Amino acid sequence: MHSNASIFQYMIVENSRITLIDAGLPLFSRSLIRALSRIDHRATLSLILITHADGDHYGAAKRMAKIYQCPIAASATEAAAIASGTMSRELKPQKPLDLLLFKIFLPVFTASATPVDRYLEPGQTLPILDGLQVLDSAGHTPGHLSFYQPERRILFAGDSIIKRRNTPSPAYGPNCWNEQRAIDAFERQMALKPLHICGGHTYFRN
Ligand SMILES: [Zn+2]
Repeated sequence: MHSNASIFQYMIVENSRITLIDAGLPLFSRSLIRALSRIDHRATLSLILITHADGDHYGAAKRMAKIYQCPIAASATEAAAIASGTMSRELKPQKPLDLLLFKIFLPVFTASATPVDRYLEPGQTLPILDGLQVLDSAGHTPGHLSFYQPERRILFAGDSIIKRRNTPSPAYGPNCWNEQRAIDAFERQMALKPLHICGGHTYFRN
């Protein structure tokens, strides 16, 4: 796990391949490169999986993909937003303070247009960690994906699982696309009884 200011990136290292799950803000590329250089030198970054099109999740992907010549993968819905440097949903400010906060944190939600090389679909199993399942976890954003390793029960949940009162909770609030879908996605994932919940801004071990 690689963490910068409560924004988590995950690296799966397998023999010569490294898979990065979410890339963090654009300015994180330097520390990611440093972290990668400390890993076994035979291993190189070979794939970047993006859970959703918020800048704090794909911001550094463009630079990393260019340096390591590796593909970026996301759902088609999120890929369309990532490729145009926009959000995959509208923010819904409910209070004047929300508007102000969105202005201040806009760089968190957007990043420069980043081409996505592969589209992922829920139900697919990726050849990572002996089978990494692609799960539909739409709610926080419309095409949000999670990644799950069923034997080891490791769940990479992006922002579909957050920390609230110190317990795993569904996404909600003005930056949530659909709160009911977010609750459904949360419950589907918790029903898997993951041992490790690797979230975009939190980590839980059961
Ligand atoms: Zn986030």
